[in-house]
Amino acid sequence: EGGIERHTYDVIVVGAGGAGLRAAIAAHEAGANTLVVCKSLLGKAHTVMAEGGIAAALGNRWPEDNWEVHFRDTMRGGKMLNHWRMAQLHAQEAPERVMELEDWGALFDRTDDGLISQRDFGGHRYARLAHVGDRTGLEMIRTLQQRAVQIGIDVAMECTVTEILKDGERVSGVFGYWRETGRFVVFEAPAVILATGGIGKAFKVTSNSWEYTGDGHALALRSGASLINMEFVQFHPTGMVWPPSVKGLLVTESVRGDGGILKNSEGKRFMFDYIPDFFKAETADTEEEADRWYDDKKNNRRPPELLPRDEVARAINSEIKAGRGTPHGGIYLDIASRRTPDFIRKRLPSMYHQFKELADVDITQEPMEIGPTCHYVMGGVEVDPDTQETAVTGLYAVGECSGGMHGSNRLGGNSLGDLLVFGKLAGEAASSYVQGLPERPPVADEQVREGQWSAVAPFASEGGENPYSIQSDLQQAMNDLVGIIRTAPELEEALSAIEALKARVGTMSVEGHRQYNPGWHLSLDLRNMLLVSESIAKAALARKESRGGHTRDDFPKTDHDVWGKKNLVVTLDEAGTGVVLKEQPLPEMPDELKKYFEES
Ligand code: FAD
Repeated sequence: EGGIERHTYDVIVVGAGGAGLRAAIAAHEAGANTLVVCKSLLGKAHTVMAEGGIAAALGNRWPEDNWEVHFRDTMRGGKMLNHWRMAQLHAQEAPERVMELEDWGALFDRTDDGLISQRDFGGHRYARLAHVGDRTGLEMIRTLQQRAVQIGIDVAMECTVTEILKDGERVSGVFGYWRETGRFVVFEAPAVILATGGIGKAFKVTSNSWEYTGDGHALALRSGASLINMEFVQFHPTGMVWPPSVKGLLVTESVRGDGGILKNSEGKRFMFDYIPDFFKAETADTEEEADRWYDDKKNNRRPPELLPRDEVARAINSEIKAGRGTPHGGIYLDIASRRTPDFIRKRLPSMYHQFKELADVDITQEPMEIGPTCHYVMGGVEVDPDTQETAVTGLYAVGECSGGMHGSNRLGGNSLGDLLVFGKLAGEAASSYVQGLPERPPVADEQVREGQWSAVAPFASEGGENPYSIQSDLQQAMNDLVGIIRTAPELEEALSAIEALKARVGTMSVEGHRQYNPGWHLSLDLRNMLLVSESIAKAALARKESRGGHTRDDFPKTDHDVWGKKNLVVTLDEAGTGVVLKEQPLPEMPDELKKYFEES
């Protein structure tokens, strides 16, 4: 092959979801020559699937709402493991970021007096989610994309980044390939912002799209950064369970926010049996009070169906295990008996169509069958809370691939806010870092050659397994052994399974050539999925308590004295083929913020 295609920029953003686009806009507006690289077509990022809304204390429905209440809800939802500074910045800046989206042309649903409407979601004290029906992510992407294109940001689509290039300890660019032609490309830049999203494709049942293979997590690890909170994976309580082809597909929490309730096969509304002490004071304990809450939120407490996601997912799991599940192994989610068909079609148009088309179920007439699905990873690249810079100079991370903001459990709606708030901060910080550099770090030819060798390695071995069977075994192992309820023996079994899978990856082979070859693409993604899976399983084995998105059957209690005071952090091991784990004390919250938690 002749010379490798090269381009030079100030800032490279890897990922064109909400986080990547917002970061690119900020970097460009701060004067940096910016490129966005993405695996799929522009507009196809996973953010487009977000349904419920963006959490921001605008105070439109509840004047009592403000950043302090949002901050408190976020920290309590994350069971106090969140980085307090990220939760604070997020709560303070989300309203401005939403208003700015509106300035850029986003059309949010309105209240009767013309303000941006806000809907209820689990764990949020007040109705707080700005939304566009149940298609909020689509509107967000549409708006950000239009803005990015309008101000002239370059985009490299269908291009996968496989290596971060470094000059000594500093970033010097990225290496990747064009998915269509298989040709390699180098983008040189002193600053790289990872915005690659989540890891859901490491699990069998997931609401996530094919892109979520943990690339940013693994790229960061391999270039010397650390991951934090990896044991915390969010299983959304309500994914479709049937038909099998769509198992895991999300059923938005808005169904419950708008009146839907959960019932077992005996017709019992069971969530009242699962209200934890931590949330007793703010949760209704009778059906009457719960039902009154929808119309009179001041004088009633919220229904238990709107507890944080980890609580609801565990409750559903217990009911199914106890033999009170539906014919297809789920639980009933019923809005048909509670709201008029008109209301349901208007508030939840996508859900109506999703069930009608995929399951032949009319949700205005019948209950849905749902069950937990792997949805979101709280864990991610450890960053400075104010600049989003990682431990590697010039490397930043934002959005779902970064960690710290959500602690052990993310509240619904807090991801879209996270993308906007930290996207902007990262773009600005990266741009100012580049502008302050006396000279640009060079890209070494040797590293480019290594990137090539490593990318073509799967073609070199013959007669090995194909990557699809390895991926499917990984997904099954993660689902069965590192899922919603965990135990030490199962986690140990998962870690040995991962070691065995690594060995199989070492000898797998890929057929054909580099032109559009999905098998080859998967073979490269698999390495990332394995590193991320190992990080999750190792951290899950080490954390001997249950908290948020991490439930240990052998350690069912939340242990505030020991485990409430530390985070687990993983870095690449010396061989570069696995990860090592260390404990790290939580950052100390300043006294003026501690006061919000004194009564609890
Ligand atoms: P993404 O939007 O996934 O973007 C990732 C980008 O990185 C893509 O462009 C991809 O092509 C690119 N990429 C990945 N790897 C590479 C690579 N190696 N090289 C080049 N490019 C790469 N959150 C809320 O707050 N409110 C909601 O209502 C809500 N609803 C949701 C509904 C569903 C069905 C799901 C699955 C999630 C929902 N979430 C919601 C969560 C939220 O949507 C995601 O956490 C968020 O969109 C992630 O955005 P991101 O910018 O970090 O990543």
